[in-house]
Order: sequence, then structure tokens, then C-alpha cells
Amino acid sequence: MSPTPAGLPIPAGVFLALLGTLLWSTVPVRADSPLPENPQVGTTGYIQYWPGELPVVLAAPHGGRLLPKDIPNRPYGKLLRDTGTLELAVEMRAAMLKQFGRAPHLVVCQLARVKLDCNREVREAAQGNSKGQVAWEEYHGFLRNAESAVVSQYGKGIFLDIHGHAHPKARIELGYLLKSRELQQNDQQLNAPDVATRSSIRLLAGRTDLSFAALIRGSTSFGALLEQRGFSCVPSPSSQLEPDDLYFNGGYSTETHGSRDGVGLDAIQMEMPGEYRDTAVKRVEFSRAVSDALGSYFTVHFKLPLDRPDADKLAPPPQQAGPR
Ligand SMILES: [Zn+2]
Repeated sequence: MSPTPAGLPIPAGVFLALLGTLLWSTVPVRADSPLPENPQVGTTGYIQYWPGELPVVLAAPHGGRLLPKDIPNRPYGKLLRDTGTLELAVEMRAAMLKQFGRAPHLVVCQLARVKLDCNREVREAAQGNSKGQVAWEEYHGFLRNAESAVVSQYGKGIFLDIHGHAHPKARIELGYLLKSRELQQNDQQLNAPDVATRSSIRLLAGRTDLSFAALIRGSTSFGALLEQRGFSCVPSPSSQLEPDDLYFNGGYSTETHGSRDGVGLDAIQMEMPGEYRDTAVKRVEFSRAVSDALGSYFTVHFKLPLDRPDADKLAPPPQQAGPR
């Protein structure tokens, strides 16, 4: 393990990755938000955590670009990067900070997926490489720290795991750990008690007055709130899964850090189509939309407004000008 160079807030390798990200994503209209300053960095230097204040945790496990020679390429498994997802997660953090005055927690892996897959159990993730295993522990340790901070501060919150897919239908696949064939069922079948308890939003399902089908694909579902802001989703009121549709329902992190086991945070895996993540302009547009949608989602379902508490009330009333 190499120590963090003295005086640098991030290791040199990560700094180079940041530089590469900025150069790569430059567009005429608006560049991505830069990586926030002063992350917590694990001993390997590849995992970064920016603690936040909102009851929201973001993670980008598959957006890294670093290819250190001392970690061999993984011989098997999914090896391709989810392009644009690390930048998207950073942009989502910036949008929430701007809208709510407070930031979500954010954990990212800067290693390329061919070196480490943080959304798999450790055996497949690191495939025996000791440095990869340490980075994997750091990644999930930071997520546990973020989860603990949210639970101790608010008692509830959400974890959004950000990914990218290349399926034919260009829509966001929202993963709640329910299989496609379950989501193809009618509302009555979806509302059977055992379905919600197998989902990654088990705790939220127990808190809301809505049926589980309404929570997943009704007019105030996360998919509906994103579609109202111009971004197609499945499941949602307008888009359901067909038998032949490809669909990601949530992976290791959604299983591990979601509320299926009855504790912790609710979790949704967000699989983004290319057109919502491949340009900086689209990432900014989407980030504003998801921030706004999340504000509504928290107000309606968590009964927990994300706006800075009493921000408006704290502002002094405008002084009345004298007669003119
Ligand atoms: Zn992924």
C-alpha cells in the first residue's frame, strides 16, 4: 500500500484520473462539475468518500478509469466500464447541493472495472488480488459509514446505486431487487405481502400508506416523478416490462446496502441508458431532474423534506422602504 502523498488532498493517481475526466468530458455548453474537494480516501487511494448531510447516499462502482499495473486484469466477469456514471454521480451530488443547500453522501471507485467490480461479492469482485480486496473492503466500508450517518441522523433514507446499461430500450431501469417476471404481474399480485419484503425498499413499503404497486409504478413512484421531468423509466405508470425486455433488477450493493433485510436504507439501482449519461449537458439535465424528483419523493413517501430546514424562515423579511 502506498501512503497518500503529504500535502495532497487526493493521491496522484486519482488526481490524474480527475484531470483525464475533466479533459474527456469538456463540451462547449458546460463542463461537468469537478470532483468535490477533500474526500476521505482509502489506503489504496482508489476509493473516495465525500460525506454528506442529506439522507441520501450515492455510489458509482463502475465508472472508474484507473488501470494500475500491480492489479492484474480480472480474468472473468463483466469487465466494461459504465461510461459517464462516475461523472453523473458527481453531477447529481452538485445538483442536490445546489437545490437543497446540503449534499448527499457519495462513494466512488476510481479503479476500472477490469481491475475491480465493487458491485459483486468479493470473490468475483477482486478475484484473489489482495490490493483489490482491500479496495473492495474500503468501498463497502465507506458505504456502511454513510448508511450509519444517515440512519443516526434521520432514522431513514435512500441509497441510489448508479449504473449504465446498453439495452435496446433507452429508459432508466429502476432496480428494486424484484425480477422482471414479478414486475410483469398485475397490481393485486404485486401487492401480496411477500413481494415488498423481498424488495430493496422494504422499509419504505412499510411506512407508506400506498399499496406496493402504487409505490413502484403509481403516480408518485420514483419512475413517475422522473418521467414527469422528461426521463423515461421502467417500472413507471407509462412503461412496464415485456417478457422479452432486458432488465437489471439490482445487484450486490442493492442487496447488501438496501433494506431487504429489514434494516438500514432503502435502495434503488439506477441503470442509465447511454443517452442520459454520455454527454455533460445531458448529465446536468438529468441531475437537476433527479434532484427535484427526489425532493418530491422524500416529501411524499418519507415525510422528510430535503430543503434546508427553515431556510426561508431564517431569512430576515425584506425591509419596508419609506414613502417615496
Ligand atoms: Zn454497472
